[in-house]
Amino acid sequence: METLAEARVDLAAVRANVATLGEHAPGAQVLAAVKADGYGHGMVQVARAALQGGATWLGCAYVEEALALRAAGIGARVLAWIVPPGQPLTAALRAGVDLAVGARWLVDDIAAAAREAGRPARVHLKADTGLSRGGATPAEWAPLVDAALAAQAEGLIDVVGVMSHLARADEPGDPSIAAQIGHFRDAVELAEKAGVRPEVRHLCNSAGTLSLPEAHFDLVRPGISVYGLSPFAPTELARPEAYGLRPAMTLSAQVAMVKRVPEGSGVSYGHRYVTGRESTLALIPVGYGDGIPRAATNTADVLLAGRRRRIAGTVCMDQFVLDVGDDDVRAGDRAVLFGPGDHGEPTAQDWAAALGTISWEIVTRVGARVPRVYEGSV
Ligand SMILES: *Cc1c(COP(=O)(O)O)cnc(C)c1O
Repeated sequence: METLAEARVDLAAVRANVATLGEHAPGAQVLAAVKADGYGHGMVQVARAALQGGATWLGCAYVEEALALRAAGIGARVLAWIVPPGQPLTAALRAGVDLAVGARWLVDDIAAAAREAGRPARVHLKADTGLSRGGATPAEWAPLVDAALAAQAEGLIDVVGVMSHLARADEPGDPSIAAQIGHFRDAVELAEKAGVRPEVRHLCNSAGTLSLPEAHFDLVRPGISVYGLSPFAPTELARPEAYGLRPAMTLSAQVAMVKRVPEGSGVSYGHRYVTGRESTLALIPVGYGDGIPRAATNTADVLLAGRRRRIAGTVCMDQFVLDVGDDDVRAGDRAVLFGPGDHGEPTAQDWAAALGTISWEIVTRVGARVPRVYEGSV
């Protein structure tokens, strides 16, 4: 059966991207961020490909994601970095999942879980060096380090990492970058003076991995670049190829039907598009139910029959329309919404630019209804 719509995922590209990221950070290990279902690409498949490409760690937002990797039989080091109260900590420790800890109370919760699991927890102390998101503030840092070391002395916790996260690494030269690196060095120094012996110190996302060799420390945590997309604002220089990266996802859909309509035909809800002349309309059977943003109405382009065409009128839940003029388009032809760009199709970055967002959101939002089709697996 041909798929109505599909997100084709090139696992060979994922492997090669991770290998390339390793070359950008020669002194560091690579943790591939596979949260949010591998940025929409499929967490388990991407995780396996990333490990084949040389990643030694995997990164998840949630404990449940890390447990899903273990359930799939993946034994590599896995770090989960968002740990609110009430998470299945004992299960996480039994599964050998590393946890990021940015708050004092979490040390106590994890110590209790370690008692129950009968094994020490591996934790990465997380400093807020200026993002003001997760992690301990400078004022909270010393008490957090002390609490973790006390639990370590009891055999309940192993402090294996010190980490933080950058706010503006995608804006090379922004003064906040150097400031955050400095705060991170201070946080590491304080922890080490207190007796922490971290196996890995880590700060860099994709943008840092590609542009801040001075901040690679022992481990880098690329996400979007694993999937072959550039973390930088879209200039000619910041194209993925400039870093040796190749986009892994190609989103396509069949033409469901075509029809001839007269000049002046209002198209889709609200008639936000009106044909300028007699024309052929092609119905593409994906919509916001599949993660195609409704904001793409009259805004994003799609490749069909060798040409890029602007979406004509409102994106609906399950479908949108393209005006193909007099071109020979038939039901069953495939429209490519985005891909690596090899055949003239837009990229996820092009969609992001058209919609005023970032490529992360474009690929990650591709809906569960769209089957992922894998190629290049070994
Ligand atoms: C998502 C995330 C990453 C990866 O970020 P990219 O910008 O996609 O490379 C790294 N570290 C943390 C803590 C994250 O939340």
